[in-house]
Amino acid sequence: MLQSNPVEVSRNAQVKVVRVEAIPLNLPLARTLKIAVGSERTCLEVLIVRIHTNDGIVGIGETQAWRRQGGAEILANLANIVENHFQPLIVGRSPFDIAGILQSLDESFSNTLYAQAAVSDALYDIVGKATGLPLHSLLGGERRSAVRTGTILTIKPTTKEVVAMVDEGYARGIRYFGLKIGVEPERDVENVSAIRERYGNRIALRVDANASMKRDTAISLLKKLEPYGLDAAEQPVPSWDIEGLAAIARSVSMPVMIDESLSTDHSLLDVIRRGAATAVHTKLAKNGGVYRTWRLWHLADAAGMRICPGNHPCTGVATAAALQMCAAWPGPLIDGAFAVGVGGELETDITTHPFAIENGEIKVPTGAGLGVELDMDKVEHFRVR
Ligand SMILES: [Mg+2]
Repeated sequence: MLQSNPVEVSRNAQVKVVRVEAIPLNLPLARTLKIAVGSERTCLEVLIVRIHTNDGIVGIGETQAWRRQGGAEILANLANIVENHFQPLIVGRSPFDIAGILQSLDESFSNTLYAQAAVSDALYDIVGKATGLPLHSLLGGERRSAVRTGTILTIKPTTKEVVAMVDEGYARGIRYFGLKIGVEPERDVENVSAIRERYGNRIALRVDANASMKRDTAISLLKKLEPYGLDAAEQPVPSWDIEGLAAIARSVSMPVMIDESLSTDHSLLDVIRRGAATAVHTKLAKNGGVYRTWRLWHLADAAGMRICPGNHPCTGVATAAALQMCAAWPGPLIDGAFAVGVGGELETDITTHPFAIENGEIKVPTGAGLGVELDMDKVEHFRVR
């Protein structure tokens, strides 16, 4: 515990976790979601974790069942891990012991970053509420009071529909777009060309293959895209192919960004050592929540890499966690798609005051902890039983 005031230390030393509650939700998407790999999705599987303390504070955190980590990451299994396996390791401990608790979870259950994410952020929420401070104050201060957001352009049958998505985002003030590629090279070039023709340099554009391409086809496609001034080529090849990423980074002029290849800090160190990328795309669920993602940002920054703050499609809870980190970060950030769910992909949010994107940015919440509260009627309505 870092507080210097002995009164605070003794008061907070009394706070103990008494219960860890996992709430699986099935949230309807406003429009179906298709990325470069996997089937189309019509709903979003979210796990909300509520951590209760003996003094009545309840912290909330979120993760999503994005199915990256196999069976451990099915919604029912996330709930099972948190309630039946994590809970006994957390109850009775101080919620201020975030690093210690996460280390215990990691030592006992490796490869559980998605489940750990919700615990990490619920603990931060408690610490914020116990001290009366928003999370950004705990992380480093308020460097931004609003955060610019980007959005993703999902796979659509026609270029016209892709351009229509850019029109819609542009009208909302968004100036940074991540276009999904990797299905058909000709269509990818056509999409990029049509967007540039219409918007010129008024927007920044990144392409994201979601790890779906082979090295040679990726290099060939990216070379064709070189004239279009792309901000980055995101994860062209599979997560394991770090040598392939490095080969691509040497072969094409645009920066390479990692997403699927970025999980733990060890995975980032490997990418840094091999010169395989110059930008990182973090997601709170994928990377284990605020505690671990904040470490990744510092590591990436020390290696001279750019940072794209992201999230899987999510509710206002994970959006708030990303906003808090962005607010505290002292350096530049890419306009990340950290608010895809509340930015129109979800039919409805589950927080009491859903975020709004105004002129392409979202105001950082000023309340204690994450700064958002659950609308429990909606949580009950969408709860998976
Ligand atoms: Mg990506």
